[in-house]
Order: sequence, then structure tokens, then C-alpha cells
Amino acid sequence: MAVPKKKVSKARRDKRRSNVWKLELPGMTKCPKCGEYNLAHRVCKACGSYNGKEVIKQDA
Ligand SMILES: [Zn+2]
Repeated sequence: MAVPKKKVSKARRDKRRSNVWKLELPGMTKCPKCGEYNLAHRVCKACGSYNGKEVIKQDA
């Protein structure tokens, strides 16, 4: 991203620095069991399953 300072407009620079485009966490996946969004490669928070198997017992 080596661009001369004066070549980047204020709007473009400020847009890059703003947080609106960084709100969503990277690596979010949908749980195949309950459809909840969770972090990839982690046990589902909603139903306690991982890779289609129940890992954590949930009180339903
Ligand atoms: Zn789930």
C-alpha cells in the first residue's frame, strides 16, 4: 500500500481508518447443527457441538 501521501484523498484515508469496515470478526462460520454464527475451528457456543458431534452437554 505504498502510495504517496498526497495521492490519497482525505475521504479515502479516513474511510480506511474508520471502524465501520472492521466491525465483523474474521473467520465467522455458521454452525451446521443450529445455524448459529460462531468462530471457525471452535466449539459452537449455542449448542456445544463441533464438527457435527456434541462436545459439551447443554441443559435444554
Ligand atoms: Zn450450534
